[in-house]
Amino acid sequence: MRLIAVDLLAVLVGCATLVTVVRMYHRLPQLLAKVVVVIAAGASVWSVAAGLTTFVGSVGAVLVLVALQMIGAWAVVVASVWLVLLVTYRAYLLTRSLFVVGSLPVLIMLALQVLPGLRPNVIEVVRVGGRLEPVWGPVLWVGAITGAVVMGVVAFSLLIVAASTILGQRPLVLAVIATTVPSVVAWGLFITDGAGATLASLAPMLFSAALLVWLIVALRHPGLVQLPITVTRLLAEVEDGVVVLTESGDILTTNAAARAMLFTGMTSWTRYPESRLGPVPAPGTSSQVRTASGRVIELVTDRLDQPGRAPTVVVTARDITELATLREHLTDVASRDPMTGARNRRYLDARLPELVERARGRFSLSVVMLDIDRFKHVNDTYGHAMGDRVIIGVTDEMCHALPAGAELIRMGGDEFAIILPGMDLPTARKAAERAATRCAELQFATRQEPISVTLSTGVQQLELDMDADELLSGADRALYAVKRARRGAPTGAPGPEAAPQLVPPVPTPLPRCNLPPRGAGGSERWPSVGKASRMGGLE
Ligand code: GH3
Ligand code: MG
Repeated sequence: MRLIAVDLLAVLVGCATLVTVVRMYHRLPQLLAKVVVVIAAGASVWSVAAGLTTFVGSVGAVLVLVALQMIGAWAVVVASVWLVLLVTYRAYLLTRSLFVVGSLPVLIMLALQVLPGLRPNVIEVVRVGGRLEPVWGPVLWVGAITGAVVMGVVAFSLLIVAASTILGQRPLVLAVIATTVPSVVAWGLFITDGAGATLASLAPMLFSAALLVWLIVALRHPGLVQLPITVTRLLAEVEDGVVVLTESGDILTTNAAARAMLFTGMTSWTRYPESRLGPVPAPGTSSQVRTASGRVIELVTDRLDQPGRAPTVVVTARDITELATLREHLTDVASRDPMTGARNRRYLDARLPELVERARGRFSLSVVMLDIDRFKHVNDTYGHAMGDRVIIGVTDEMCHALPAGAELIRMGGDEFAIILPGMDLPTARKAAERAATRCAELQFATRQEPISVTLSTGVQQLELDMDADELLSGADRALYAVKRARRGAPTGAPGPEAAPQLVPPVPTPLPRCNLPPRGAGGSERWPSVGKASRMGGLE
């Protein structure tokens, strides 16, 4: 006994879904839309054919409708598997042969159906009290049960995807499930009902109805036709590494970026690798680690508190190697005088207070101030370019003359400062005199005669109650005391030590201890701040 009303409704709903699918096809550009369209079209055909079976009078017509039902239902099954492969990001498994193999069962059933004598294995139409009733054969039973099982697996897979889908896309997956679950239930009812006697068209009708709703919703919300994005998928896509772990260091999940940055060469990552990365950084902090391959990774740690769950720690890792190198380079450039390559006043202002604090009461620290005597005369007589060459030559020479650990700073113009850590006043004086003497021995070729310059120096040792400013101004006062005493003395170019008959070569850019090599490109030009070098000073 069939329920005419259900059959009628099945035809109507199937037609409505079919019309909607045809009208919407071009408005659903995404892969997901295509598969939903195939499911909807299959369900429509199935639903309409199942509903119409009641209203046709000939066995041949019933058999044609049954064949259409089989095709529609099987299209739903195959497209549902296609859907699951898409939403679980396994589209690479979707090959042509999968579709060929997928359509084999229905082709076999159709072949059996049309071959004489084999039809009862699939479906036989019998007349019961003036009505035509289909009777299922074993092959159809197997087909229907297989279809029901596949649809059950599909619904379950979609539920799992829905559970881990990012919040904004939950409606999408829920909508897809809404199209699957009722029809799986209806299919079960249909089978247990006695092979389609009463509710033959209920399953396809419910399926069609659900898809109709989905299509109408999707039409209004284009976002619904995007592939769902699961949290795992999202994490796999982000460039930053993410490690979620318990407070005791057991790793709960990681993404590919974290594994590539932090766990390279490791075969398992169930525990935070403290031997390689140090202890788990405290939540709310950020730190940097350098990997074995020399990459600089910034780790930002946060606590993730979820009500009712043990707190977890989330470590975000970002490869900042290029940024760190650039930062180092910029810091270095900002701390140097571009003409001579020596450190500049900005460097001194940051460096000296720090050194003073470290040295106070622990080790000696002296500062020397140097100024070229009568430098204006060099500029005025031989030109500004010659003045520049003198400043550069003096810088180079001082750099060579100074002991390791000393730091040379061009304060501006022809004035220099030297920080001498670990040196008391007498030693610092000697070092300053040696540097000044060597500079005075330099000869600079000019168009006229070779010239040389002398330097005045003032030295101040750090005393217990001094700060950096007082240390510097002490050296400055000492310098100007010397300058005042020298005024009137014959200094300047040509220097007393100059050998007029000799024309020494223009000073070549000697390899300078703390000065970056001039001219050559590349990042090696700029040794980084704080790196140990002859003039680099204390780390
Ligand atoms: P003093 O013996 O008292 O030191 O006299 P000075 O002539 O050396 O006087 P001072 O140190 O005050 O003069 C420094 C001069 O250096 C003034 C300025 O024109 C010149 N100068 C400053 N910067 C540069 C530079 O980068 N290149 C050149 N060629 N000259 C500079
Ligand atoms: Mg001067």
